[in-house]
Amino acid sequence: MMKTMTVVLASRNKGKIAELDRLLRAELGDRITLKSLDDIGFLEEIEENGATFSENALIKASAIAARGYIALADDSGLCVEALDGEPGVYSARYAGEHGNDAANNALLLRNLAGVENRRAAFVCAFACVFPDGRTPILAEGRVEGEILTAPRGSGGFGYDPLFYYPPLEKTLAEIGKEEKNSISHRGAAVRAFAAKLAAAMKG
Ligand code: IMP
Repeated sequence: MMKTMTVVLASRNKGKIAELDRLLRAELGDRITLKSLDDIGFLEEIEENGATFSENALIKASAIAARGYIALADDSGLCVEALDGEPGVYSARYAGEHGNDAANNALLLRNLAGVENRRAAFVCAFACVFPDGRTPILAEGRVEGEILTAPRGSGGFGYDPLFYYPPLEKTLAEIGKEEKNSISHRGAAVRAFAAKLAAAMKG
Protein backbone atom coordinates (compact mmCIF):
# COMPACT_ATOMS: atom_id res chain seq x y z
CA MET A 1 0.00 0.00 0.00
CA MET A 2 1.16 3.55 -0.73
CA LYS A 3 2.29 5.48 2.31
CA THR A 4 0.62 8.77 3.20
CA MET A 5 2.29 11.80 4.70
CA THR A 6 1.25 14.89 6.67
CA VAL A 7 3.43 17.87 5.85
CA VAL A 8 3.46 21.25 7.61
CA LEU A 9 3.89 24.16 5.23
CA ALA A 10 5.98 27.05 6.55
CA SER A 11 3.41 29.69 5.73
CA ARG A 12 0.45 31.56 7.20
CA ASN A 13 -0.68 32.79 3.81
CA LYS A 14 -4.01 31.02 3.16
CA GLY A 15 -3.82 31.72 -0.57
CA LYS A 16 -0.35 30.21 -0.83
CA ILE A 17 -1.37 27.13 1.18
CA ALA A 18 -4.50 26.52 -0.92
CA GLU A 19 -2.50 26.93 -4.12
CA LEU A 20 0.24 24.53 -3.02
CA ASP A 21 -2.31 22.04 -1.74
CA ARG A 22 -3.93 21.99 -5.18
CA LEU A 23 -0.60 21.68 -7.03
CA LEU A 24 0.75 18.94 -4.76
CA ARG A 25 -2.50 16.97 -4.88
CA ALA A 26 -2.39 17.10 -8.66
CA GLU A 27 0.94 15.26 -8.45
CA LEU A 28 0.49 13.11 -5.32
CA GLY A 29 -3.28 12.69 -4.86
CA ASP A 30 -4.39 11.77 -1.34
CA ARG A 31 -0.92 10.64 -0.35
CA ILE A 32 -0.18 14.09 1.04
CA THR A 33 -2.05 16.26 3.57
CA LEU A 34 -0.85 19.82 4.12
CA LYS A 35 -1.11 21.64 7.43
CA SER A 36 -0.37 25.28 8.10
CA LEU A 37 1.66 26.92 10.89
CA ASP A 38 -1.63 27.97 12.46
CA ASP A 39 -2.87 24.34 12.44
CA ILE A 40 0.07 23.31 14.64
CA GLY A 41 0.10 26.48 16.78
CA PHE A 42 3.56 27.60 15.62
CA LEU A 43 3.76 31.27 16.61
CA GLU A 44 7.48 32.10 16.27
CA GLU A 45 8.84 34.36 13.56
CA ILE A 46 11.57 32.57 11.63
CA GLU A 47 14.44 34.82 10.55
CA GLU A 48 15.28 34.30 6.87
CA ASN A 49 18.96 35.24 6.82
CA GLY A 50 20.26 32.76 4.26
CA ALA A 51 22.38 33.78 1.27
CA THR A 52 20.41 31.69 -1.23
CA PHE A 53 16.79 30.71 -1.82
CA SER A 54 17.54 27.07 -0.90
CA GLU A 55 19.25 28.15 2.32
CA ASN A 56 16.25 30.26 3.33
CA ALA A 57 13.84 27.42 2.53
CA LEU A 58 16.02 25.05 4.62
CA ILE A 59 16.13 27.50 7.55
CA LYS A 60 12.34 27.79 7.60
CA ALA A 61 11.63 24.07 7.19
CA SER A 62 14.26 23.09 9.78
CA ALA A 63 12.69 25.33 12.44
CA ILE A 64 9.41 23.46 12.07
CA ALA A 65 10.95 20.00 11.71
CA ALA A 66 12.66 20.65 15.06
CA ARG A 67 9.16 20.42 16.59
CA GLY A 68 8.73 16.90 15.22
CA TYR A 69 6.91 17.59 11.95
CA ILE A 70 7.77 16.88 8.35
CA ALA A 71 8.09 20.45 7.10
CA LEU A 72 8.00 22.07 3.70
CA ALA A 73 9.13 25.63 2.96
CA ASP A 74 9.71 27.66 -0.15
CA ASP A 75 11.61 30.82 -0.94
CA SER A 76 11.63 32.72 -4.17
CA GLY A 77 12.65 35.94 -5.84
CA LEU A 78 13.85 37.78 -8.87
CA CYS A 79 17.46 37.65 -10.12
CA VAL A 80 18.51 40.31 -12.63
CA GLU A 81 21.64 39.57 -14.65
CA ALA A 82 22.84 43.19 -15.03
CA LEU A 83 22.43 43.70 -11.26
CA ASP A 84 24.59 40.69 -10.35
CA GLY A 85 21.57 38.63 -9.34
CA GLU A 86 19.83 41.32 -7.30
CA PRO A 87 17.30 41.69 -5.76
CA GLY A 88 17.64 37.92 -5.14
CA VAL A 89 16.87 36.91 -1.55
CA TYR A 90 16.01 40.57 -0.86
CA SER A 91 13.21 40.61 -3.47
CA ALA A 92 10.38 41.15 -0.97
CA ARG A 93 12.19 44.04 0.79
CA TYR A 94 14.29 45.47 -2.06
CA ALA A 95 13.17 49.07 -1.41
CA GLY A 96 13.25 48.68 2.37
CA GLU A 97 9.71 47.91 3.46
CA HIS A 98 8.73 44.22 3.32
CA GLY A 99 6.17 43.50 0.62
CA ASN A 100 5.89 47.01 -0.87
CA ASP A 101 5.52 45.91 -4.51
CA ALA A 102 5.13 49.43 -5.94
CA ALA A 103 8.32 50.69 -4.24
CA ASN A 104 10.24 47.53 -5.19
CA ASN A 105 9.21 47.84 -8.85
CA ALA A 106 10.08 51.54 -8.93
CA LEU A 107 13.54 50.87 -7.49
CA LEU A 108 14.14 48.06 -9.97
CA LEU A 109 13.29 50.40 -12.86
CA ARG A 110 15.57 53.11 -11.46
CA ASN A 111 18.47 50.68 -11.06
CA LEU A 112 17.99 49.46 -14.63
CA ALA A 113 17.56 52.91 -16.19
CA GLY A 114 19.66 53.04 -19.36
CA VAL A 115 20.78 49.42 -18.94
CA GLU A 116 20.54 47.44 -22.15
CA ASN A 117 20.81 43.90 -20.75
CA ARG A 118 17.33 43.30 -19.29
CA ARG A 119 17.70 39.53 -18.78
CA ALA A 120 16.24 38.20 -15.53
CA ALA A 121 14.91 35.03 -13.94
CA PHE A 122 12.42 34.22 -11.23
CA VAL A 123 13.75 31.42 -9.04
CA CYS A 124 11.89 29.29 -6.49
CA ALA A 125 13.40 26.76 -4.09
CA PHE A 126 11.57 24.18 -1.99
CA ALA A 127 13.02 22.37 1.00
CA CYS A 128 11.38 19.49 2.81
CA VAL A 129 12.98 18.62 6.15
CA PHE A 130 12.26 15.46 8.13
CA PRO A 131 12.32 15.27 11.94
CA ASP A 132 14.21 11.95 11.87
CA GLY A 133 17.29 13.61 10.34
CA ARG A 134 16.89 12.05 6.90
CA THR A 135 18.50 14.01 4.05
CA PRO A 136 16.21 16.93 3.16
CA ILE A 137 14.54 17.00 -0.25
CA LEU A 138 15.51 20.12 -2.24
CA ALA A 139 13.93 21.21 -5.51
CA GLU A 140 14.27 24.34 -7.61
CA GLY A 141 12.43 25.91 -10.53
CA ARG A 142 13.13 28.96 -12.66
CA VAL A 143 11.65 30.98 -15.49
CA GLU A 144 13.68 33.24 -17.76
CA GLY A 145 12.48 36.59 -19.05
CA GLU A 146 13.22 40.28 -19.47
CA ILE A 147 12.54 43.36 -17.36
CA LEU A 148 10.46 45.93 -19.27
CA THR A 149 10.94 49.69 -18.92
CA ALA A 150 7.31 50.17 -17.78
CA PRO A 151 4.73 47.86 -16.16
CA ARG A 152 2.14 45.94 -18.21
CA GLY A 153 -0.93 44.07 -16.95
CA SER A 154 -2.86 43.95 -13.68
CA GLY A 155 -2.73 40.28 -12.66
CA GLY A 156 -0.22 38.44 -10.48
CA PHE A 157 1.79 40.16 -7.76
CA GLY A 158 5.27 41.48 -6.98
CA TYR A 159 7.43 42.05 -10.05
CA ASP A 160 4.99 40.32 -12.44
CA PRO A 161 3.99 43.51 -14.37
CA LEU A 162 7.66 44.16 -15.23
CA PHE A 163 8.59 40.57 -16.09
CA TYR A 164 8.16 39.91 -19.80
CA TYR A 165 8.02 36.27 -20.89
CA PRO A 166 9.13 36.12 -24.56
CA PRO A 167 7.49 32.76 -25.54
CA LEU A 168 4.03 34.24 -24.77
CA GLU A 169 4.94 37.84 -25.66
CA LYS A 170 3.28 38.90 -22.39
CA THR A 171 4.25 39.85 -18.86
CA LEU A 172 3.36 37.49 -16.03
CA ALA A 173 0.73 40.08 -15.02
CA GLU A 174 -0.99 39.64 -18.39
CA ILE A 175 -1.66 35.89 -18.09
CA GLY A 176 -4.06 33.83 -15.96
CA LYS A 177 -3.19 31.86 -12.81
CA GLU A 178 -3.30 28.48 -14.53
CA GLU A 179 -1.07 29.65 -17.36
CA LYS A 180 1.35 31.21 -14.88
CA ASN A 181 1.53 27.95 -12.92
CA SER A 182 2.38 26.05 -16.08
CA ILE A 183 5.43 28.22 -16.84
CA SER A 184 6.43 29.80 -13.52
CA HIS A 185 9.41 29.13 -11.28
CA ARG A 186 7.00 28.12 -8.50
CA GLY A 187 5.07 25.71 -10.72
CA ALA A 188 8.31 24.11 -11.93
CA ALA A 189 9.66 23.86 -8.37
CA VAL A 190 6.45 22.28 -7.05
CA ARG A 191 6.44 19.68 -9.82
CA ALA A 192 10.13 18.89 -9.29
CA PHE A 193 9.54 18.59 -5.54
CA ALA A 194 6.43 16.41 -5.94
CA ALA A 195 8.31 14.03 -8.23
CA LYS A 196 11.18 13.72 -5.73
CA LEU A 197 8.81 13.22 -2.79
CA ALA A 198 6.81 10.57 -4.69
CA ALA A 199 10.06 8.72 -5.42
CA ALA A 200 11.11 8.95 -1.76
CA MET A 201 7.72 7.63 -0.60
CA LYS A 202 8.03 4.60 -2.86
CA GLY A 203 11.52 3.86 -1.61
P1 IMP B 1 8.49 34.63 -1.32
O1 IMP B 1 9.77 34.37 -0.61
O2 IMP B 1 8.05 33.45 -2.11
O3 IMP B 1 7.41 35.17 -0.45
O4 IMP B 1 8.79 35.77 -2.42
C1 IMP B 1 9.67 36.84 -2.18
C2 IMP B 1 9.45 37.98 -3.14
O5 IMP B 1 9.91 37.64 -4.45
C3 IMP B 1 8.02 38.42 -3.34
O6 IMP B 1 7.62 39.33 -2.36
C4 IMP B 1 8.08 39.09 -4.71
O7 IMP B 1 8.59 40.38 -4.61
C5 IMP B 1 9.09 38.23 -5.43
N1 IMP B 1 8.42 37.15 -6.18
C6 IMP B 1 8.49 35.82 -5.92
N2 IMP B 1 7.74 35.12 -6.80
C7 IMP B 1 7.18 36.04 -7.61
C8 IMP B 1 6.27 35.94 -8.71
O8 IMP B 1 5.81 34.85 -9.11
N3 IMP B 1 5.93 37.09 -9.30
C9 IMP B 1 6.38 38.30 -8.89
N4 IMP B 1 7.20 38.46 -7.87
C10 IMP B 1 7.61 37.33 -7.22
